[in-house]
Amino acid sequence: MKLKSIKQIKNLTGKKVLLRVDFNVPLTGGKNPKVAEDMRITESLPTLKYLLNKKAILILVSSLGRPNGVRVPELSIKPVAKKLEQLLGKKVLITPDCISDETKKIIDSLKPGEIVMMENAEYHSEEKNNDVKFSKRLASFADIYINEAFAKSHRAYATMVGVPKFLPSYAGFLLEKEIKELSHVFNHPKRPFVALIGGVKISTKLGVIKNLLKIADDVMIGGALANTVLKAKGISVGRSIVEEDMVKALRKLKLTDTHLHIPVDVIVSDKMTKNAKAKVKAAGNIAKNEYALDIGPDTLKLYDCIIRESRTIIWNGPMGMFENPKFASGTVGVIHAVVHSSAKIIIGGGETAEAIKSLKSFMHFERSNIYISTGGGAMLKFLEDKTLVALKPLIKK
Ligand code: ADP
Ligand code: MG
Repeated sequence: MKLKSIKQIKNLTGKKVLLRVDFNVPLTGGKNPKVAEDMRITESLPTLKYLLNKKAILILVSSLGRPNGVRVPELSIKPVAKKLEQLLGKKVLITPDCISDETKKIIDSLKPGEIVMMENAEYHSEEKNNDVKFSKRLASFADIYINEAFAKSHRAYATMVGVPKFLPSYAGFLLEKEIKELSHVFNHPKRPFVALIGGVKISTKLGVIKNLLKIADDVMIGGALANTVLKAKGISVGRSIVEEDMVKALRKLKLTDTHLHIPVDVIVSDKMTKNAKAKVKAAGNIAKNEYALDIGPDTLKLYDCIIRESRTIIWNGPMGMFENPKFASGTVGVIHAVVHSSAKIIIGGGETAEAIKSLKSFMHFERSNIYISTGGGAMLKFLEDKTLVALKPLIKK
């Protein structure tokens, strides 16, 4: 898939560019929020700098958190704009919203090479509803639309699919890079090609698991979603997190497929707290009052072997409740296997990336064969469907 690149735009001088970014970053500090982790901002800096160097007028739009159409003060874009200002070393103005006359006035006052960030797009319910009037109004502020928001590109929102109907539209460098890296697994991946899927909800990951079973050599399952798979196989999982309504759908899958690996043992406890007592149990021996909270050592050994022998690896979702050190060994073990591998490795998912970054040793091992995507849901959707809804207006004919 070839996307229309911003390098194709001939003259950017003085052009108003509506740049859809996904600066949906984690915040800390409660009522006085600050950006806790800025990867999603830094990853977009090459696009921003390119456009500013070419003397475009930059209008950034992003959502932050889930305000659901309400002006939740803690979800204001202000701390994000502040962080961007520090990273760029350049003034970043802020608009009060996305569509008012006041906003238009601020945009119209900008000079070439200047930058403004709109207030949280999801303060407007029209954003998620893909409202046409809202999209038209936003489009009327600019000459060009650029999608730099890979992590939101599976969403048919106004700023993702509505606005590009009314403006010449292009893909930013980060979006291009993400699609190139992920397309790798469809275009002759080096084999063995394996996938590791963990995390909470099997309902959000079943589609990708099904597709990976078709294209990958091995699919390894961990995390809470493994419990639902165990349950579908008729194994009792005690009090573990299970999506009951997914059991039936899973039974339609060939759970005996030799390429599908599920935990043979698990770490269980009767509590999830810091002082919980952790025990190793065979997957078939989980007691009624126990939660399965991590993959066990034998499962890790098996997954470790598969990872070490593979040449392409996709990983989304932690193997256990890694935030509690008692249930982190599966996730930490997989991270070690991955960083010692010379395979092409693609990692995605908010908590998965967090788990990796929390391990300082990772920095020491950081290498060019490891690609950490800025998208979780978008990465899964792309690996399931080979496309994303917001890419359609950007495809080179
Ligand atoms: P990602 O954001 O990387 O896609 P998810 O959002 O799907 O991952 O899931 C991450 C969460 O899953 C983590 O916060 C972790 O605590 C939780 N988790 C993983 N395994 C278990 C388990 N066995 N029981 C309870 N929670 C789990
Ligand atoms: Mg998550």
